[in-house]
Amino acid sequence: MSTKKREPAIEGWFTMDEDKPHLLGSKCCDCGTFYFPKQKNFCKNPACEGEEFSEVKLSRTGKIWSFTNACYKPPEPFVAADPYVPYTIAAVELEAEKMTVLGQVITGVNVSDLKAGMEMELVLETLHEDDETEKVTWKWKPVSA
Ligand SMILES: [Zn+2]
Repeated sequence: MSTKKREPAIEGWFTMDEDKPHLLGSKCCDCGTFYFPKQKNFCKNPACEGEEFSEVKLSRTGKIWSFTNACYKPPEPFVAADPYVPYTIAAVELEAEKMTVLGQVITGVNVSDLKAGMEMELVLETLHEDDETEKVTWKWKPVSA
């Protein structure tokens, strides 16, 4: 049993509930549009002048909309393991919000294991660790896996 402290690789983007983690998004108080990553200053809905947002836990399940092999390092603020190894990313349409969220797919699942429309759930997986801390990030896992 590891006694290392587990910390989010990116602060404030998801809950650290090991069994049922949620991504943390924001919802416009005026028009109800959801955002991930969180939107803070103004609503991107052209028909809305909202400037206030509440933090919400987003659905932790959804369906694959598309997926690909990422053979390049992702741009900031996405964090990759170091040393960098290619991984699979999936765009998943969240159950309730109907918004698409990109994320890595858990280690060991390849492009050939995935199908559009497949049910996915959010999990936490260690990205990298040092002697005291494990940095974790959110990943998509096929519900059937
Ligand atoms: Zn709005």
